[in-house]
Amino acid sequence: MRRVDSPDRLIVDLPNTIISTATKERSFPANRLGIQQIRLGQFQNRPPITRIVLDIDQEVADWETAYDPSVKGVRLVPAGQLAVIQKRAGNLLAVRLIGDRLIFVGDGPLQAKAEFTGNNYKVTFPGISLPAQTLSGPKLTTKGPLDRLRIFQDPGSEVSAVLALGPGIQVTKAESRKNQFIIQFNKGQIGQPTGEGPLVVIDPGHGGTDPGAMAGGRNEKTLNFQVAQYLGQILSQKGYRVVFTREDDRFIPLQGRVDIAEQVNANIFVSIHHNASENTATDGIQTYYIRENSHRLAKIVHRNLISRVGQPDRGLRTARFYVIRKTTMPAILVEMGYITNPAELALVSQAPHQRLAAESIARALDEYFQK
Ligand code: ZN
Repeated sequence: MRRVDSPDRLIVDLPNTIISTATKERSFPANRLGIQQIRLGQFQNRPPITRIVLDIDQEVADWETAYDPSVKGVRLVPAGQLAVIQKRAGNLLAVRLIGDRLIFVGDGPLQAKAEFTGNNYKVTFPGISLPAQTLSGPKLTTKGPLDRLRIFQDPGSEVSAVLALGPGIQVTKAESRKNQFIIQFNKGQIGQPTGEGPLVVIDPGHGGTDPGAMAGGRNEKTLNFQVAQYLGQILSQKGYRVVFTREDDRFIPLQGRVDIAEQVNANIFVSIHHNASENTATDGIQTYYIRENSHRLAKIVHRNLISRVGQPDRGLRTARFYVIRKTTMPAILVEMGYITNPAELALVSQAPHQRLAAESIARALDEYFQK
């Protein structure tokens, strides 16, 4: 999904989707939640792309999309409200391993029974189902507290998770907190980046079922991820502590990204995106912030990028993007170029350019932290 302005609208492209000829109605008035009307169109035939356009009021905040198995369709939800809307389903939405905590996220209050069974620790969630789509589970590393994690649907409506704890690892606390069930392990700093440097959360925009903007056979999510990886490598070498909101191609709701930044107590938050426009001549870089505590960071990053990467300056801007609005630490969102501009797409797809852009951001962070 992406947002374009003048006039303001949200565009959702459904790849490999053809509108049925039975669908006669192509435009639906809404006049609520800041949406004036919803339009449907076959944007492209080969390969097929169906485009949904929502004509919105200018002050409407961001929305997000997700595949909802309970209706076998795509839901458009005001950003951050995904969990609320899916409530009646009683699903386990995600499992995250953040530092020394394993966090189960449900779409409603999550109650659990937990017990040791032999060498394993078993958690059972009554009345909860696994979503039909693949549950995004954590990546287990040798540094982490878990050797294995198995999650399955029991007969009846129960989900169980069996944790094989790593050597020397103990569970020190397990508790329900609203929509989350959190298991705390003994070793502080497990999986948590060690060191003294500033902690930077890098947020590669989109992922999984959400490709972001698409143009020229490329997905925004992939470019975001590549730049984020370079940035993470460079910052780690410089002594920063780095946490990614996603380390592979998966869907993470916007609130999930905010949660990660808050839970690791990040010093700053950097969201990486690429832009799209109906005007294929549009190109250049924009840096967004919204809160006052983020202005200096945005200014320094934008100046370093513009002076080094050779792309046009489309300005330091404010916008109510969810991830930079709902986080509390200085947070920015950088649009690294327009993938709808063929020349700029070719440029930002090249690894050396991605590395240069990442280096420019890293230099900016040095300046920001006065290293
Ligand atoms: Zn984006």
